Amino acid sequence: MSILDENEHLEKLDKKYIWHPFTQMKEWLEEKSVIISEGRDCFIKDIYGRWYLDGVSSLWVNIHGHRKKEIDDAIKEQVDKISHSTLLGLSNVPAIKLAEKLVQIVNQSLTRNTPSLTLPPRGGGQGWGGDSERRTLNSELTKVFYSDDGSTSVEVALKMAFQYWKNKGFDGKNTFLSLNNAYHGDTIGAVSVGGIDIFHKAFEPLLFKTYRAPSPYCYRCELGKKHLGCSLACLDKLEKILKAHSREIAAMIIEPMIQAAGGMITSPQGYLKGVRGLCSKYNVLVIADEVATGFGRTGRMFACEHEGVMPDFLCLSKGITGGYMPLAVTLTTNEVYNAFLGEFKDLKTFFHGHSYTGNPLACAAAIACLDLFEKEKVLKKLKGKIKILEAWLKKILRLKHVGDVRNIGLMAGVELVKNKKTKEPYDWAEKMGWRVANHARDNGVFIRPLGNVVVIMPPLSISEQNLKKLLDVIKSAIIGVTEKR
Ligand code: PMP
Repeated sequence: MSILDENEHLEKLDKKYIWHPFTQMKEWLEEKSVIISEGRDCFIKDIYGRWYLDGVSSLWVNIHGHRKKEIDDAIKEQVDKISHSTLLGLSNVPAIKLAEKLVQIVNQSLTRNTPSLTLPPRGGGQGWGGDSERRTLNSELTKVFYSDDGSTSVEVALKMAFQYWKNKGFDGKNTFLSLNNAYHGDTIGAVSVGGIDIFHKAFEPLLFKTYRAPSPYCYRCELGKKHLGCSLACLDKLEKILKAHSREIAAMIIEPMIQAAGGMITSPQGYLKGVRGLCSKYNVLVIADEVATGFGRTGRMFACEHEGVMPDFLCLSKGITGGYMPLAVTLTTNEVYNAFLGEFKDLKTFFHGHSYTGNPLACAAAIACLDLFEKEKVLKKLKGKIKILEAWLKKILRLKHVGDVRNIGLMAGVELVKNKKTKEPYDWAEKMGWRVANHARDNGVFIRPLGNVVVIMPPLSISEQNLKKLLDVIKSAIIGVTEKR
């Protein structure tokens, strides 16, 4: 079979056998698909030899580029030792080394900027338990629980938070608080705390009850306020919910600083810190879902560092292995961990774990990925790239159909609107984001939108030159699609 025939055969087989995620397969079957066969640095290559700039970091996971020697070598070395053994009843070398490294890196980052929170006064009304139940604030995250992907790291945090209160003897805390526009993954627990109707509404009958607070989406403020003059009214709304229901709420889950899949919605300054303060005040645990934001994406190692916030749980995945292997962790405090200690018969055990939990190959990749942050001074080198991105965003905002631009670090969104004055959005069915992405793809850049939001999230290692090229192509695509129709 010639190479050309083989490629066509692959396309046929893909269409015959694969059900692609988040994809309307009817359209997929009608369209020409791109099949990737190779990657290098910030580029991916299809089977016909065309190279594309990887503008979404292979779905927000790639950090140091593709085929990074250090990570390739770490995996190969580990393959020669053992590829998998279980963490149920056994341990393994890379999992132990990685856990130590993560605890060090996470606490270094999160205490760098942490103001010492004083315990806010608790009014009699919302109180439960006594002073003895006051938790230690700003406790370091000292324990690492492994799982496989972002959704499972969230499931772990939700279940742990729930059982923490049970083990402590508080039975009423049976629900969670989350935000509109939140995205925490696709498993049922993660969907229950999600807030994106297009993705989540269909599953409503299956989901557990949660409380929802407004999204800190200043461009389209749910409360009809204007940012800066609003004194963070969304926090007042949040406090009302906490005040009325904290007895039922085990934890609040939040994507710190930016609601990513919700449309790259960056939260206003002080919001995250406000959330932490309120949750502490009402004895509600905080789950920081840094699956998307972790590992440098926001310009800091972790997004919580921007506001000096120490959560009770930290969910990490995606960038943890530099985009090589599925791996996730949920970190928590001694306080939470200790609540699960007891006699065998007490059933305080955390009965949760997956087959590939703590996979040695993935942990070896993660160790190499973390080492590269130091070796290559990744965060320091990001500063210039963030400046380039921010200057570009400022210019892009002048375009006729760009309503808002948002970024934190190297995570950015450009919100396209039909009418800039009224902020009228394009109809979902118009697929404007997709049209821009297709235009960019025809010009050698791969991006994936979120509705009308064009997402820009290249690997952190992208060169300034390639970043500029990426942005040029995206700009032409936005103009080509929105102004030259
Ligand atoms: N949390 C956040 C904040 C995410 O952005 C995502 C994925 N985009 C997830 C959880 C789920 O991660 P995964 O797709 O690896 O399950």
